[in-house]
Amino acid sequence: MVDDKLRTPGAVRDAERWTAHNYHPLPVVISSAEGAWLTDVDGKRYLDCLAGYSALNFGHRHPQLIAAAHAQLDRLTLTSRAFIHDQFADFCRELAELCGKDLVLPMNTGAEAVETGIKVARKWGYQVKGVPAGQANIIVADGNFHGRTTTIVSFSTDEDARADFGPYTPGFTVVPYGDLDALAAAIDDNTVAVLLEPIQGEQGVVVPPEGYLPGVRQVCTDRNVLFIADEIQSGLGRTGRTFACDHEGVVPDMYLLGKALGGGIVPVSAVAANSDVLGVLKPGQHGSTFGGNPLACAVATEVVRLLATGEFQRRSAALGERLRTGLEGLLGKGLVGVRVRGLWAGLDIDPALMSGREACERLMARGILAKDTHGSTIRLAPPLVITEEEIDQAIKTLTEVLAA
Ligand SMILES: *Cc1c(COP(=O)(O)O)cnc(C)c1O
Repeated sequence: MVDDKLRTPGAVRDAERWTAHNYHPLPVVISSAEGAWLTDVDGKRYLDCLAGYSALNFGHRHPQLIAAAHAQLDRLTLTSRAFIHDQFADFCRELAELCGKDLVLPMNTGAEAVETGIKVARKWGYQVKGVPAGQANIIVADGNFHGRTTTIVSFSTDEDARADFGPYTPGFTVVPYGDLDALAAAIDDNTVAVLLEPIQGEQGVVVPPEGYLPGVRQVCTDRNVLFIADEIQSGLGRTGRTFACDHEGVVPDMYLLGKALGGGIVPVSAVAANSDVLGVLKPGQHGSTFGGNPLACAVATEVVRLLATGEFQRRSAALGERLRTGLEGLLGKGLVGVRVRGLWAGLDIDPALMSGREACERLMARGILAKDTHGSTIRLAPPLVITEEEIDQAIKTLTEVLAA
């Protein structure tokens, strides 16, 4: 029964009417937000446990980020890279320092950062490693998610993401995730890079076996292959460290960053690497009209400054332990699997109970917004500004949903 006084049903209908159906959103229409909380068009409040797929690590409308955006909007918003603007140098230097790299190449979306990484690795392969023309290959993992462009979906192993979008870009080899021997065996003289998520987010927050990432690092070094870490979702505080690679002391040759880098305000992505790698690009060989624009740089510089304090990483690590304890308590009580790193969790619901989608609908009815991924898995990734009480509330609500 639909209550006529609610604006939500009509707003949901209108939204579905005028868009391609490339998403299946929960039937909720948000009109404002602050911190970890969303408010819908009927005034109902929800705790955000998705955080824009980690694009909102610092919460909705973080005051420092909003102030930077307002100030920049009043001065300068776009120059293109044909000219230099006064926000550019600070952003690139401070992000490079956060990453411990020499250089940064700013783009907009995550997929563009991945495309940039692929282009740079191939050029590096031909010009530095000496791979014969047109022969470069890149090793990727089963279950990967790196974005939606035609080249990126060419090496996806998710049929929904890939089917009917060919012809596919060649030059990629897929190996099982977490299997170091398989990865090492797939490398040949024409391999220029290994491209991996240090934790597979879309796959359900899948953490590889301990020792895998250091092993990949070693193999790449030994075989003169670039290790590209896609930290677009796992990076920038989400796991309790600046980068997910930090948990095992691993430093990749290239970081791919996005999502949280834009502070939930503007799309900002970047590739960070040393000059022996990123230096292969010369004028005219790569670019983006909006990449590194003044508004993006002003916001992202503040994001980097928030991260440079370490406060968010510490918060994520500490609150993540609370989240872990709460979720592990639900094993055997509706959950059959739990994976947690910082404030990032993949939960496998007993498929006999309900699907991930059903769980998310029931959570929504009780004021929690989360997103299912594959089948009966849901992912929790609240903004890092969430409080202990709010985590407890999320666990309590989840307990009720699983028991109902
Ligand atoms: C989201 C994501 C991307 C793609 O980012 P977009 O901004 O959506 O293009 C790439 N890699 C990973 C690991 C992601 O989570």
